[in-house]
Amino acid sequence: MYNKQQTIALQNKTTEWISKINAANASEIGKENIENLRNCLRFHEYRYYVMTNPLISDFEYDALYKLLENAEKKDPSWITKDSPTQRVGSGLIKDFPKTQHLVPMLSLENSYNADDLLDWDRKARELSGLSEVEYCAEPKFDGASISLVYDDNLLMRGVTRGDGETGDDITPNIKQIKSVPLSAAFSSYGIDQIEIRGEVLLNKNNFAKYNQSLMEEGLPPLANPRNAAAGSLRIKDTKEVGRRNLEAFLYHVSYLTNTEKVVKINKQVDLPLLNETTNEPSTHSGMLEMLWNLGFRSPVKEMKVVKGIQGIIDFVAAFEAKRDELPYEIDGMVIKVNDLALQEKLGMTSHHPRWAIAYKFKARQATSKLLGVEFQVGRTGAVTPVAKIAAVAVGGVTVSSISVHNEDYIKEKDLRIGDIILIERSGDVIPQIVRSMPELRTGDEKLIVFPTKCPVCKDELFKPEGEAVWRCININCEAQVVERIIHFVSKDAMDIRSFGEANVRKFYEMELLKDVPGIYTLNIDELKKLDGFGAKSIKNLQIAIEASKSQPLHRLIFGLGIRYVGETTAKTLAQAITHIFDLSNYSIEQLLQLQDVGVKVAGSIYNFFKNADNIHMLQQLQKLGVKMEAQKSAPVSGNLNGQTFLFTGTLLQMKRTEAEEIVEKNGGKILGGVSSKLNYLVVGVDAGSKLEKARNIPSINILTEDEFLKLIAS
Ligand code: AMP
Ligand code: ZN
Repeated sequence: MYNKQQTIALQNKTTEWISKINAANASEIGKENIENLRNCLRFHEYRYYVMTNPLISDFEYDALYKLLENAEKKDPSWITKDSPTQRVGSGLIKDFPKTQHLVPMLSLENSYNADDLLDWDRKARELSGLSEVEYCAEPKFDGASISLVYDDNLLMRGVTRGDGETGDDITPNIKQIKSVPLSAAFSSYGIDQIEIRGEVLLNKNNFAKYNQSLMEEGLPPLANPRNAAAGSLRIKDTKEVGRRNLEAFLYHVSYLTNTEKVVKINKQVDLPLLNETTNEPSTHSGMLEMLWNLGFRSPVKEMKVVKGIQGIIDFVAAFEAKRDELPYEIDGMVIKVNDLALQEKLGMTSHHPRWAIAYKFKARQATSKLLGVEFQVGRTGAVTPVAKIAAVAVGGVTVSSISVHNEDYIKEKDLRIGDIILIERSGDVIPQIVRSMPELRTGDEKLIVFPTKCPVCKDELFKPEGEAVWRCININCEAQVVERIIHFVSKDAMDIRSFGEANVRKFYEMELLKDVPGIYTLNIDELKKLDGFGAKSIKNLQIAIEASKSQPLHRLIFGLGIRYVGETTAKTLAQAITHIFDLSNYSIEQLLQLQDVGVKVAGSIYNFFKNADNIHMLQQLQKLGVKMEAQKSAPVSGNLNGQTFLFTGTLLQMKRTEAEEIVEKNGGKILGGVSSKLNYLVVGVDAGSKLEKARNIPSINILTEDEFLKLIAS
């Protein structure tokens, strides 16, 4: 897309713009140079989202974006349809109008092994009369399919697959996907209208984060990134769609026209497939290259073009072996006849094209039997049903119990005790029940009866209007008390090592520990009488408890287990206050001013600090010496002042979060990615692609963990 010269020119221009922001003379932007600023922003979107190799920091991008936004506000007549600011829609969408695809979206035929592929190749050779066919193989992305239409270089609409003939027009949401260009120079190929197919997906990292946020709200996580992508595309709030960080791969051109004649691809039409007077590619891989050259993320780096099926069989096997290393989920490969004229000749059945076939990887699914359901009471009183299943291996792990989330979920999946069930584990995600198999029922299956009373304290359960989860609202419920203590001592909260879940349960049962403050008044003499508690382990426990008193404030806040307050929100709160009791004076409105604190979160924090029992507990903790003040980020030594750091790979002497904390305490900053703004990349074991990228930027200092430790000690 951008050659070396253009890259250097745009990067230089960017630096100039950035210096303008710093010099605060942004008023120099005028109608004559605003398009140049836009080009810089487009270039950096491309570097980040298509090449996944950014040259500037997120912070710098945001600042440039603001600069453009302000300039366009000054004179709205300067706004163009494909300005980077135009991705942000009006906010809320009423509904998605139905739209017909220019060419129907078909399914693919499936294959599962080399024999299937050999068969398919034999048919292709027979039909074509060729002794050897050229194929292109590329990943089968596990996401939601979309189709995009560009008219005169401008993105006109993005449509879901729907029933294949018609789908929903979701253009405002598609514009949130930054790897989809708002305009592209199709005219340079003689094209004036084009329909492109692709797949929208959530990478593994963002998918895991998204599921985490669902579970924090007591909602069932999604079984796979496909469902997450499809669901995200249908949200009626474009801002929320933007927050999901969707990605798109474009892998097929289904229709195009040029000024002289209509050329339809893969649809039996009388017109010649390719007009010799235009520049359109004549192969599938050529089309993918064209898309890539125009700024789309097409699988050019992932694809392979091979003559004859054997090469394809080898390639797909090799790809399957490295499936887990990819940042996104794929469920197989798609093999396509590369020559578009031959595709046309092979044609299609009513269901699928004859020129393409999906090669499905081994499913990470397994069947098992649902043996029973246990109901667990969590820290917030939520009652979670957990299915006990006959132990089974899926995707390399043995599963014998699986959360089934809530009552609605059980109903929706029609689960009964004794059912044969299908379970799936995608990527690193926790296993899920895909479905039950009612056709295999014998009649002995039993309905799952949701309890009406807390399985632990026997209090009546309660389900708030509009929520999916039944709760025990007795805050003295033993289960909750124990879970709260377990959470308080846990690794991400107060991190009281050698305490742990098992000890909390044991001490609680023996009545040595009855609440959170009790951690700090444990009767050591009683512990000495217990089996397995020698002098050494008691000493270690005492040291860990003592050390936890001076943990940073955000750990204490997170440790309190306030509903909806995860680590990030805890950090935000700790930064906003000087003492924990400041929060008891915060109004809902004040809480809402804080970053990422919405109505639900604000309400929960507010209620927590209005509750007398909670305040009493905090006062006890304070008396016992637990630190309640925020450590203001006055740098401890400041010897890293202004320097930027990034970590890659596994550190051996400390956790990455600890290392990052040290950098920040010393006045340094952690960057989100490798760019010319980065001063130090600290490389641990099994470093990833960041290291490779950093090697290409001479100004970055690459440090080993030891070198890093020396640097901070200096
Ligand atoms: P299936 O839904 O199993 O019939 O598979 C067909 C679907 O695979 C298409 O509708 C696309 O959404 C999806 N797909 C993912 N990657 C590709 C690819 N590289 N080429 C074609 N289709 C793909
Ligand atoms: Zn209870």
